[in-house]
Amino acid sequence: MSIGFISHPACALHDMGAGHPESPARLTAIQDRLVAAGLDLILRHYDAPRATREQLLRVHDVAYVDGVLSGAPEEGRVWLDPDTSMNPHSLEAALRAAGAVVAGVDRVVTGDDGAVFCCVRPPGHHATRNRAMGFCIFNNIAVGAAHALAAHGLERVAIVDFDVHHGNGTEDIFTGESRVLFCSTFQHPYYPYSGADNDDGNIVNVPLPAGTRGDAFRSAVREHWLPALESFAPQLVLMSAGFDGHAEDDMSDFLLTESDYAWVTAAVKAVADRHAQGRIVSSLEGGYALDALGRSVAAHLDALLGAGAMTTTQ
Ligand SMILES: [Zn+2]
Repeated sequence: MSIGFISHPACALHDMGAGHPESPARLTAIQDRLVAAGLDLILRHYDAPRATREQLLRVHDVAYVDGVLSGAPEEGRVWLDPDTSMNPHSLEAALRAAGAVVAGVDRVVTGDDGAVFCCVRPPGHHATRNRAMGFCIFNNIAVGAAHALAAHGLERVAIVDFDVHHGNGTEDIFTGESRVLFCSTFQHPYYPYSGADNDDGNIVNVPLPAGTRGDAFRSAVREHWLPALESFAPQLVLMSAGFDGHAEDDMSDFLLTESDYAWVTAAVKAVADRHAQGRIVSSLEGGYALDALGRSVAAHLDALLGAGAMTTTQ
């Protein structure tokens, strides 16, 4: 099965300042690791297109979208929230990041690629309908899901989010949208302090305590995500792939390893293989310990290629 790898040079030019953990070095760390692991040669590489205003407006309010489109600075930096800023390249990066997921959806729905990984920044899952937050400007995965519904006529799109932070923006956008199932595991209580109280039928929130290790994470996925995914029978699976729950990542208190990311990827891929012709689009969210991030993305892609299938039995 071919795996597409969508990125864009602008994603490495978005820079929120020295010392900010969501840094351009993250993409370099991933790409270096994929080369070292021999995975880079296997992937099909594409440049991300820009998301269009129309595509963004499927999930974001018009005032917010137009504010971002007109608010990008020509020099210096503009702050959108206490954690999130734009430099002169950030608008281009944000448009390419959302456009990558749109292009990924197009590629897997048409069968041009079996699965796609969007190696992009800024990340997206904290961006709500009307605000940027937590390093996120546009909600990339939500833009892709809405594209699958609107442009391809799909009726069941699942989004799984294993970033250590709750995907509050994705939940905000899709609560009450029965064509989208959103499954999220996250440290709780922790930023953004949401997700413990949503009982909407299409939202599967699984808050987990600080100190969560791989065995508890896998149990939570088995008990909560997999039955919901099986009964939903998605036609397409999207992944908010955040690797900041890694034990080496100071951003959180989870103690996951790259083998846990391989396991969850394989477990979700098995669902996609049964129901969605294997169609998966995964998009990078968090992950700030550079070496662990590179190893984790390599394990994730290895599992998407099918090499991690054995780990589902562990
Ligand atoms: Zn995160």
